[in-house]
Amino acid sequence: MLNQLTQLEQEALEALVAIKSSQELAEWNRRYLGKKGALTLLLRSVGTLPKEERPAFGQAANRAKNELEAAYKERAQELRRIELEREMARGALDVTLPGRPGGPGHLHITTQTLRQIISIFAEMGFQVYESRDVESDEMNFGLLNMPPHHPARDMWDTFWLDDNTLLRTHTSPGQIRVMRERYPEPIRVILPGKCYRYEQVTARSEHQFYQVEGLAVGHAITMTDLIGTLTEFARRLYGPQRHIRIRGSYFPFTEPSVEADMDCILCGGEGCRVCKYSGWLEVAGAGMVHPVVLQNGGYDPAEWSGFAFGLGVERPAMLKYSIDDIRLFYGNDLRFLRQF
Ligand SMILES: [Zn+2]
Repeated sequence: MLNQLTQLEQEALEALVAIKSSQELAEWNRRYLGKKGALTLLLRSVGTLPKEERPAFGQAANRAKNELEAAYKERAQELRRIELEREMARGALDVTLPGRPGGPGHLHITTQTLRQIISIFAEMGFQVYESRDVESDEMNFGLLNMPPHHPARDMWDTFWLDDNTLLRTHTSPGQIRVMRERYPEPIRVILPGKCYRYEQVTARSEHQFYQVEGLAVGHAITMTDLIGTLTEFARRLYGPQRHIRIRGSYFPFTEPSVEADMDCILCGGEGCRVCKYSGWLEVAGAGMVHPVVLQNGGYDPAEWSGFAFGLGVERPAMLKYSIDDIRLFYGNDLRFLRQF
């Protein structure tokens, strides 16, 4: 049986050298090393040998098996190289060819919505002020009337870079920055940008999203200016027949604080699934700039007053296009993005 083994090994090695293609190679592997291959069968027949001959045969058979497997791998590599060379010689593969063109792209739906919002406010005389994403604790909370341990901080859990540095939870810290930069000029700006919250990602909330903050500071600015601005905005974005409703709310950095709602664009106030049968949709959180915040920005609240508001950007886009999952905005799925 040892003879049989040597013969088989020799035959297999010779056959291997003669192989010209990967199909032949696979066939060879089946014939010798496969489940029903010649070597496998021979190994299995070890039980028919007298006991004292078994160890020597087993050893020899294992060595032969290892050798054939190594030779097989080597030959496979060689064949792959030969086949590649053959293809290149045929000219099938030209590595100097330019890549496939990607085709023209277009603006992301968030950018489109953002630009639409910005142009509406630009028509009303608002400038764009861009502020930073990474803020200090003092800018994000302290100067906005939320000292350490203020309970309102619980509404805005975020990502901390160290004990004092964080990803902003709202665009409001930009209010302090723009006031300190512009004093003693009157201010009329919007502050668009990304905000971050440490919260569970669901169909309705993401850990990152866009906001557009608005800030007006001047002499004798009143709540009616705020309501007028938000009403005009809603009418320019959603159509001239829109109505705005104001109700009381609470934010640490505005006093008084309000929420602005708009009659539902889908049901016109009748009540539907989107407005949760209330007939109204939230548009913005807003209010008159808190005297402490004015002071922190360098404006004397005895002389100056102002209003501020915060709008979502993804939410209006979701309403407009009936998008039911905010995660799609950041999913990078072209099937979604190409629709807008
Ligand atoms: Zn509705």
